[in-house]
Amino acid sequence: MTDTVKPVGEPTPRRNPKPEVEKLGGRKLKPATLMMGHGFDPTLSEGSLKPPIFLTSTFAFESAAAGKRHFEGLTGKRPGGAEGLVYSRFNGPNQEILEDRLSVWEDAEDALVFSSGMSAIATLFLAYASQNDVIVHSGPLYAATESMVSKILSRFGITYIDFPAGASRAELDNILDQAKAKAAETGGKVAMIYLESPANPTNALVDIEAVSASRDALYGDADYKPPIAIDNTFLGPLWQTPLKHGADITVYSLTKYVGGHSDLVAGGLIGAKKFMDPVRALRNTIGTICDPNTAWMLLRSLETVELRMTRAGENAAKVCAFLKDHPKVDGLGYLGFIDDASQQDIYDRHCTGAGSTFSLFIKGGEAESFAFLDAMRIAKLAVSLGGTETLASHPAAMTHLSVSEERRAQLGITDNLVRISIGVEDPEDLIADFDNALKAV
Ligand SMILES: *Cc1c(COP(=O)(O)O)cnc(C)c1O
Repeated sequence: MTDTVKPVGEPTPRRNPKPEVEKLGGRKLKPATLMMGHGFDPTLSEGSLKPPIFLTSTFAFESAAAGKRHFEGLTGKRPGGAEGLVYSRFNGPNQEILEDRLSVWEDAEDALVFSSGMSAIATLFLAYASQNDVIVHSGPLYAATESMVSKILSRFGITYIDFPAGASRAELDNILDQAKAKAAETGGKVAMIYLESPANPTNALVDIEAVSASRDALYGDADYKPPIAIDNTFLGPLWQTPLKHGADITVYSLTKYVGGHSDLVAGGLIGAKKFMDPVRALRNTIGTICDPNTAWMLLRSLETVELRMTRAGENAAKVCAFLKDHPKVDGLGYLGFIDDASQQDIYDRHCTGAGSTFSLFIKGGEAESFAFLDAMRIAKLAVSLGGTETLASHPAAMTHLSVSEERRAQLGITDNLVRISIGVEDPEDLIADFDNALKAV
């Protein structure tokens, strides 16, 4: 064994992502393969094939100099961030492995995990927006995100301008222009362009490529341009990878497809390190990181995310084919059957699958929709989505009850809209359940 000289205080590597194995003779391994081992070296944990759950609030330093070096990285006195673990509000082994594996799906440099989707979103906004700034966002947004922008950030002098999800390039140019002018007036900046696509529950798609082109045209090569963040919860990580289409930050409620078993709540952000750094610093300050147990559960979930999403997507296609021409059905908001040419164009450029969450319009109103929901036997009546089991809910009476009737009408959230998230059950059983429940209408 040769003695290598380490700079003073440089920590011994505690993790080994084994890049040489991953290359396998120049071959770039696919995410589905990397989910089984990326970022974890069993030899550093007694040979344990799976990462142990590290339940500790703090980490012992190898030496006082190593401790100083960690804090230099942590506080930005030295670039590159902390090289080792310091304290569990900042990070832990389970969370770091999870962050490594999440970033693989978008071929990104970095990722951060959070205690919920909303804590990821709140930390993101707070890291980027200051007093007098303007946020531009697509609409509709997930209701709590919309509240965060319109009710919480507004208390700190941050305003917003929104545009409808399907907006064209010309409309986007106009909105971004307005936002830039407004920010100049208030003495702030456009802090962020925040998108959600597909939008919930309408499944309207945002043209990420057009947003990015519009932003770049308006800001040219100025020192500052507002980052583009996008909530990709409905199609990610499998069917849409927004970083490839011009987004800077991808946002996830990991509670949904990534967690996938309706048994945890967590969130994530993915992007280049320069976009994650301000958020990491704020997460260190306020402690919105997810706990080690949840991170471990998510590592388990990621091993099957491609399998689960593929099966759920196939099931949804079969169920929707059955529902499409059913006499009790008034329409479907399903990305597999888009009837608008510009939405289809966005889909073709951005998405590789139609997902498994869709809107089902029942002939009738609330009474007929409730009769349908109450008659379902396999599908569970619950909000949320992306789990192994099929879920059904009524947005107008549940998730969007607090939204004004007028705004609901604007968003197309009608009394006959039932939202469905298809799971991984047997597709014929699911079709039988829908067939039977529609008889009750
Ligand atoms: C569920 C959800 C969120 C919020 O995530 P939590 O994990 O519940 O905090 C944000 N955006 C979308 C699109 C969601 O579906």
